[in-house]
Amino acid sequence: MKADKRLFILALDGTPYSLLKRLMDEGVMPNLKKLIAGGSFHSLNSVQPPLSSVAWASFMTGEKPAKHGIFGFIERDPETLNWFVPKADRLRAPTLFHILSELKQRVFVMNVPMTYPPPKVNGIAICGFLGSDIARGTYPPAVGSFLKAKGYVIDADVEIAKKDLNRFYRELQRVLEKRIEMMWHFYDQETWNFFMTHIMETDRLHHLFWKYFEEDSQPFAGMFRDFYGRIDRLLGEVSAKIPEDSALMLLSDHGFTRLKLEVYLNRWLAENGYLFYESVPPKSLRDMHPFSKAYSLYPGRIYVNLKGREKKGSVNPGLEYERLCGELSEKLLKIRDPQGNPVIKEVRRGYEVYGIPNEINEPIFVDPLKLGAVPDLIALPYEGYDLKGVLWHSTVFDQTVFNGTHTVDDAFLFVKNFPLNLVPESIDRIFNPILAFFND
Ligand SMILES: [Zn+2]
Repeated sequence: MKADKRLFILALDGTPYSLLKRLMDEGVMPNLKKLIAGGSFHSLNSVQPPLSSVAWASFMTGEKPAKHGIFGFIERDPETLNWFVPKADRLRAPTLFHILSELKQRVFVMNVPMTYPPPKVNGIAICGFLGSDIARGTYPPAVGSFLKAKGYVIDADVEIAKKDLNRFYRELQRVLEKRIEMMWHFYDQETWNFFMTHIMETDRLHHLFWKYFEEDSQPFAGMFRDFYGRIDRLLGEVSAKIPEDSALMLLSDHGFTRLKLEVYLNRWLAENGYLFYESVPPKSLRDMHPFSKAYSLYPGRIYVNLKGREKKGSVNPGLEYERLCGELSEKLLKIRDPQGNPVIKEVRRGYEVYGIPNEINEPIFVDPLKLGAVPDLIALPYEGYDLKGVLWHSTVFDQTVFNGTHTVDDAFLFVKNFPLNLVPESIDRIFNPILAFFND
């Protein structure tokens, strides 16, 4: 291994390949266009489900969810029916940041989702959006106090968008500018081998501004383009700052599309006689009635209320379980939105999508009692439907201020001075090329 290997990674959360092509064609991103002429630019798939915490966990471990242990933003403990938010301490596979640190590479990692609590790297780690206070979100800890004093924040406050989209845009700009300023501050401190910064603001922009961009509705469509204009100037700064022969990688973790409708699966389960509550409205899963047959967690994960696994389990493993899974799958596929369009494209067993957990060593018969966090079923929607997991909502379908949603395809990968024997198909396949680069 050569001591002077250098890789600079800039991650743009949720930026679609097709969007970048369009913005280059429209002249919004001249620096990107210039960069791309000197490297290779590809579309990339996310993992299922295409959520930032799951996809970045796959990026940093090279594994699918069943192996790295992150399935969504929320998990339940079946024995207590308590909810919790899985964080980096739940990762069950070693990360790039740890491995490269062990290889004595100097590592800087900023704002990548699923890095809270921050990894103890040979360098600096600044947590991503599951951390709440930056003062406690860095390694070494002194970096956190410094960032806090500088006015750095982990994430823009999406609550602002519900009241005032103009103000939210200014908030996004403020958060982005501070991140860029601090990124260069640390970049200039020393020669890093692995330097990675994650921009979350693109994803936030898309969730709130996507329909305006799509409809070319002003002033928000213009603001959307201006935001990417700033991202492009950042790429210009990157090109100017990093050494000519340094390896460069730009990537996103999922694509984006117009959000047609939010779909509240627990409401659907309740209306169809699969989910009951002991009190209404229920405050948590613990208020689920023992008669319940199934419940759902975001996005589209369906758990059978299985005897021997769930606290109030009512469904027997074996024939009853299999029948219920079959029945639910059939009925879910028949859901129609108020316009009569089908909503669910496919229903699959959770282990087919997430992978089989380590606890199961006989994949011919997957014992549902051993599935752990892997859902029994996963509903995969047609593009534009967001399968919500909140327990109580007054309707099955709804529309809110959010108007963009994730897609599993149409993420992107750009590399320059970085060897790729094969173009990675999905975000979990970039891990090995990065390790190979540093081990070469
Ligand atoms: Zn998002």
